[in-house]
Amino acid sequence: MGANLNLDELTEIKTAVSEAVTNCVVHAYPDTIGDIKIEVKLTEDKIYISISDEGIGIDNLERAKEPFFTTKPEEERSGMGFTVMESFMDKIDIKRNKKSGVTVYMEKNIKKSKYNALGV
Ligand code: ATP
Ligand code: MG
Repeated sequence: MGANLNLDELTEIKTAVSEAVTNCVVHAYPDTIGDIKIEVKLTEDKIYISISDEGIGIDNLERAKEPFFTTKPEEERSGMGFTVMESFMDKIDIKRNKKSGVTVYMEKNIKKSKYNALGV
């Protein structure tokens, strides 16, 4: 039995996951189709999410996290994906995978709530 999520928390988690998955589609696999793995763990007071790809990877992880940094300005990317993830989640960590690509780890603390938007 996991924690109860309210609608605000669910919206924030959905937005953060969407940013990470969009990054895999747009950046990790620019000219190919590849796998995107999503793992989720829900406990009484926390949700843990990891999103990984086997794509081209990120050269400079610190720079990638900076607001407005993008390698695709010509495609009207704003460079705010990681900033959005950081603001909506309580912890985010980007790691290089051994073989190729990156894994984005995110955690969010869940407030005690009587509402349960997930229905679990
Ligand atoms: P926006 O998210 O606002 O549309 P963006 O995707 O460029 O723009 P971020 O999501 O903050 O901005 O990502 C910053 C940069 O990090 C990207 O421009 C890209 O160079 C790199 N990046 C992010 N995710 C990946 C990934 N999974 N694989 C390879 N490069 C990535
Ligand atoms: Mg992005």
